[in-house]
Amino acid sequence: MRYLSTRGRSAPQSFCQILLGGLAPDGGLYLPEAYPRVSAEDLAQMRNMDYAALAFSILSRFIDDIAPADLADIIDRTYTAQTYCNVRPGFNAADITPLATLAPGLHILQLSNGPTLAFKDMAMQLLGNLFEYVLAREGRHLNILGATSGDTGSSAEYAMRGKRGIRVFMLSPHGKMSRFQTAQMFSLQDPNIFNIAVRGVFDDCQDIVKAVSNDHAFKAQHAIGTVNSINWARVAAQIVYYFKGYFAATRSNDEQVSFCVPSGNFGNVCAGHIARMMGLPIKQLIVATNENDVLDEFFRTGVYRPRVAAETLHTSSPSMDISKASNFERFAFDLAGRDAGQVSAWWSAVDQGRAFDAKDGGFFARVAEYGFVSGASTHADRLATIRSVWEKYATMVDTHTADGIKVGLEKRDPNVPLICLETALPAKFEDAIRAALGREPERPAAMAGLEALPQRSVTMDSDARAVKAYIAQNC
Ligand SMILES: *Cc1c(COP(=O)(O)O)cnc(C)c1O
Repeated sequence: MRYLSTRGRSAPQSFCQILLGGLAPDGGLYLPEAYPRVSAEDLAQMRNMDYAALAFSILSRFIDDIAPADLADIIDRTYTAQTYCNVRPGFNAADITPLATLAPGLHILQLSNGPTLAFKDMAMQLLGNLFEYVLAREGRHLNILGATSGDTGSSAEYAMRGKRGIRVFMLSPHGKMSRFQTAQMFSLQDPNIFNIAVRGVFDDCQDIVKAVSNDHAFKAQHAIGTVNSINWARVAAQIVYYFKGYFAATRSNDEQVSFCVPSGNFGNVCAGHIARMMGLPIKQLIVATNENDVLDEFFRTGVYRPRVAAETLHTSSPSMDISKASNFERFAFDLAGRDAGQVSAWWSAVDQGRAFDAKDGGFFARVAEYGFVSGASTHADRLATIRSVWEKYATMVDTHTADGIKVGLEKRDPNVPLICLETALPAKFEDAIRAALGREPERPAAMAGLEALPQRSVTMDSDARAVKAYIAQNC
């Protein structure tokens, strides 16, 4: 399997060649040259597989430069009941992603049972093991530098902790994360994890990451890398649970389902699109945004108009607070009929801060063919949804999942089962749960007393030079 850049001006690469990198040299994102198709027989076989076997069956179609036995071992070590065991009442950890049925034809696919209680663990845990394997094979090491306002950073740290050849330097805005999120990250005592609290806001952290990444000499000398959401392996790993959810919600492979997906950088729903392109019988892919509705605007109007960072609103579903959706270019490549010239033209506008209109040239019609619909949710909507799901189904959902459910119920085809992707557990967002329900969220027993654990971090001014010096000293 070779991977092409969406801009068409970089040489095709293998899976392991793109695993540790970010953008293609021409500024595009990598995608497989063709999506592998699953046959009716494949689907019939997959239906009875456990999570790890299903993951191997799917991922081995995308990864042909890791020996199958090694890939199977990596996957088996990743998708264990022990890792995905943040037990809730009635939860069967061996399922990895259990399907909870709220009502006939209405389901929640529980993706947040990993160590940091968010769906990002589904892919990030695999990434940790893939990175360790490939780095060891090539005799290399990697210093991962990232900026986080919560979810991504903690998921990356829990995936990379204790991994040979990997250090993580994670910047977060000092005093701006929730107590829970701070405790989750800063209580890690692994010597390869470095938490750097920056006196500033999230954008300052991101600016430092950019400044360090733009210092090409420093970057090369210190083997600096990232684990951001454009990483292809993260998207690939997420394809698996669309299949798992489909099999759990249906009895035969003639049935269709729809998915609703709380969306930010478009990585999660992009994986759903690829599952559909592979032949999984998906009727609708329902994209839900919060008040930051750049994606909803696109799917309603055909106009993709990224915002500037200053226009981004801080909402009660913070992991969907984005100004541009970094994985959207992958979908746009398919929308353009895989014409890299068209994608380059669109993104030359985007890179200059302008919009493009996919109705020009007739590309937007494919959106309906691909099953996409969308909607947006507000703070009031998400609190009302948390309340109604609690009252009707005795199920507590987090703010992001609530955005998905709200839009999903509005836009669903009533004749097809709806699977709502759960992207985080309510325990992570105590304030919103308190506001919606007047009570504390349920917290996994394993995380009782998290805030009381000893914490480990350094605090620094918002200064790229100081951060570079710290990295140089510690790697
Ligand atoms: C990251 C995240 C999202 C958005 O996912 P994308 O793949 O960026 O679209 C939604 N909800 C939660 C809780 C997240 O952490």
